[in-house]
Amino acid sequence: PRLWHEPPYKAPIPEKYYHTANSTRRASAVILILARNRNLPGVVSSMTQLEDKFNRKFGYPYVFLNEVPFTEEFKQEITALTSAPVQFGLIPPEHWYQPSWIDESRASAARERMGKAHVIYGDSISYRNMCRFQSGFFFRHELLKPYKYYWRVEPDVNFFCHLDFDPFLFMEGEGKKYAFTVALPEVKKTIRSLWSNVKAFMKQNPDLLSPDNAVDMLLDRTKEYYNMCHFWSNFEIADLDLWRSDAYMKFFEWLDSTGGFYYERWGDAPIHTIGAALFARKDQIHFFKEIGYAHIPYQQCPQGPAHARGRCECDAEKSFEYRGSTCLARYDRLFSDALEQ
Ligand code: GDP
Ligand code: MN
Repeated sequence: PRLWHEPPYKAPIPEKYYHTANSTRRASAVILILARNRNLPGVVSSMTQLEDKFNRKFGYPYVFLNEVPFTEEFKQEITALTSAPVQFGLIPPEHWYQPSWIDESRASAARERMGKAHVIYGDSISYRNMCRFQSGFFFRHELLKPYKYYWRVEPDVNFFCHLDFDPFLFMEGEGKKYAFTVALPEVKKTIRSLWSNVKAFMKQNPDLLSPDNAVDMLLDRTKEYYNMCHFWSNFEIADLDLWRSDAYMKFFEWLDSTGGFYYERWGDAPIHTIGAALFARKDQIHFFKEIGYAHIPYQQCPQGPAHARGRCECDAEKSFEYRGSTCLARYDRLFSDALEQ
């Protein structure tokens, strides 16, 4: 049988979350930007659009993180872009740099090998530090302690549509834990041994998995292997408590202890995706089809009524949602299988 209704993760935002800009109720939420000082122009661009399309009405606070101090110029320019509170935090070195127990000769051999194979960021240490930080540490930062939800924003992204609803109150009110806009397959060469480590973890810790979890969405036809599908984590709206949970912390420690962030080039996107699939219920994962978003080289542009309602400045026909390589269809199947049972 075919689906009569949109799967729950694609359901439209209920009306009660619209026009909340006029009310004073806000969620415990923060806009989170990890950046280098030299990303200033890109951050200004992303933030100007976000303020214009959303946050000027809502006034959610910002937290900026960096492993070196932000310059005065960076802080001044950024603070001038918003009337919301802005904080600038320093990442503790032990949350960022390659740990001393990593075998550097093995790690540098991997960087050289992957660089030669033209794997994207294959030869970079700083990219690996960043991926490990985003996978296992950002949510422990002092400045994020007061908050439950975050919206991850990167330099040089685009927001195409006006958001007249509060995505954080939506997450809170609907009990969502992880929300995305683009889902696509990961480069296999960056995560060669990730899945076998995940499988070992699941076998060892079956009691830590969420009931009604979304593990099925990760599996290929054989039901044995990872299909490489992941949520593109340069955009995320999520519940920090998902990552702060004992289950996820244990999962991260397990993966980290293999050294895979350095001996391979594990991205935070597959790690977050697998984490959400294991430790959230599938109805707690959400696709924000109302949010028009671009990060080079892809964009997601709302279709149908959402496009008009958001006054979106993007071409609905160019949306990633309908490209052959999107992973969205798999999530459709996940929910249709559930409805058929
Ligand atoms: P891509 O989106 O995978 O191509 O990688 P990006 O270069 O956009 O990096 C992802 C995020 O991490 C962005 O928010 C960057 O600003 C940030 N980032 C990447 N590398 C570093 C770094 O070495 N230091 C800091 N502070 N931020 C970084
Ligand atoms: Mn980026």
